[in-house]
Amino acid sequence: VEYYLDNIQQKSHLNAFLEVWPDEALAQADAVDAKLAAGTAGKLAGMVIGLKDVLAYKDHALQSSSHILDGFKSLYTGSAVQRLLDEDAIFIGRQNCDEFAMGASNETSYFGPVRNEIDPERVSGGSSGGSAVAVQADLCLASIGSDTGGSVRQPAAFCGIVGFKPTYSRISRYGLIAYASSFDQIGTLTRSVDDAALLLEVMAGADDFDSTASQQPVPPYSELLTPAPHYRIGYIRDTMERPGLNPEIKQAVEGVLDTLREQGHVVDAVDFPYLDFIVPSYYILTTAEASSNLSRFDGVKYGYRAPDATDLESLYKKTRAQGFGPEVQRRILLGTFVLSADYYDAYYTKAQKVRRLIKEKTDELLRQYDFLVLPTTPTTAFRIGENQKDPLAMYLADIFTVQASLAGVPAISVPAGTDSAGLPIGVQMLSGAFREEHLLAFAKSVT
Ligand code: GLN
Repeated sequence: VEYYLDNIQQKSHLNAFLEVWPDEALAQADAVDAKLAAGTAGKLAGMVIGLKDVLAYKDHALQSSSHILDGFKSLYTGSAVQRLLDEDAIFIGRQNCDEFAMGASNETSYFGPVRNEIDPERVSGGSSGGSAVAVQADLCLASIGSDTGGSVRQPAAFCGIVGFKPTYSRISRYGLIAYASSFDQIGTLTRSVDDAALLLEVMAGADDFDSTASQQPVPPYSELLTPAPHYRIGYIRDTMERPGLNPEIKQAVEGVLDTLREQGHVVDAVDFPYLDFIVPSYYILTTAEASSNLSRFDGVKYGYRAPDATDLESLYKKTRAQGFGPEVQRRILLGTFVLSADYYDAYYTKAQKVRRLIKEKTDELLRQYDFLVLPTTPTTAFRIGENQKDPLAMYLADIFTVQASLAGVPAISVPAGTDSAGLPIGVQMLSGAFREEHLLAFAKSVT
């Protein structure tokens, strides 16, 4: 704990943590030491963990990196976070992220961008940017983030670490601030696949507080990391030919596929006809869900309240106009529009149908093949400010991560070297739903 506290202080310019809990973490460490001596320590004893600012931890500030939750403290501890505590994890602090997890560069945070340690003029990725850089820069051993459309995988790729999103519903969402509830999933940012497996094993499983959490039994993932000798692996032909895909990333993914072929696995190009519909349907559905989820922030129940309101309506309007940043406002407007009576069928209903097609085709491919392999991102970490003026370009860059989110299947990004400028590249793998033990074993064999 002292080691990490020291690093956090020395690397505060990276802006990864919004708040650090030195006294608590040291006290937790003492308690864990005592348990270790008594032989009663849990599975995560000694693991120093950071929490993305979307995870409820009782009596600790929680604000999704938004001005609108200024001063808010969580009244309870979420289920996944509680399970980590029960296994003696040590929490070191609360991590910066995009506002309400909306973004892919951590630039929408009310608290400013997180800086990539490899080049502090470049973004961390997002929305779990602080969580990724905290692991990259050795400010904690592992981070817990959330992934709605790539928010653990994409920053992990930009920072050269492992980012893992389990199957939708594998981990309870109780105590996770909602962005788009039919997509949101807690995920991990770690240095190794082993750590991802161990954390999943602790956090996963049924939960009385989240009726959507899966009842499926939780395998001991961390003990099941031996890969099978022969896998069937598919890669989507069009992803590799995508305009805008950085040639060095293409080369890195091809290198991974070549190695897999040499190891005797079957590697086939497959067709996926819906690639162009992935990003539009994702942004219609997630903004619709977000516009509904974020209606609770009205200046009455939580955090910030506009000081200059004159009546109830002006309280709502002013609080939301002052409290939400531009990206969040843009998405609330988009979501409200696609849900409005005149446009509901044209956009929302249609996007739901497209989601179904994408899910069915993805599931079908993942029955024919054990895994799909694809790039995590079309580019490496870009410069801070470079894409900020063009939200559409930023949305389109989610092309490779949102397929797994629309389909609800697990996906992991692992490091696949660097480009010629030394910036990390990630390769992503998907498996069928609830096949995490296979996905993790495979991912470990590729790292
Ligand atoms: N970049 C995507 C978005 O802005 C993903 C965010 C996330 O997974 N929370 O919606």
